[in-house]
Amino acid sequence: MSKTWYPVIDYEKCTECGICFDHCKHGVYSKRESRIIVVEGENCVHGCRGCQSKCPSGAISYVGDDGTTKGGCCCSCC
Ligand code: SF4
Ligand code: SF4
Repeated sequence: MSKTWYPVIDYEKCTECGICFDHCKHGVYSKRESRIIVVEGENCVHGCRGCQSKCPSGAISYVGDDGTTKGGCCCSCC
């Protein structure tokens, strides 16, 4: 994946609640049985932290996140 910003799920923390899947409007996630996986990282909006802010387990981080990235999305996913 060449994109510089996309989510990564820590499966040690993930409880498979599905909130990130339900929250994201950009088709980044898919479900394989109960497990949520990143299938279209290219669709993730640079700087958006919408799903991370909703994850109750703190399981989502971002490739490309140096702690200073700000941004977001024009839709309601953030
Ligand atoms: S950061 Fe935003 S665009 Fe990217 S997967 Fe999460 S909700 Fe979707
Ligand atoms: S919101 Fe967090 S705990 Fe729930 S499925 Fe997504 S990564 Fe896992």
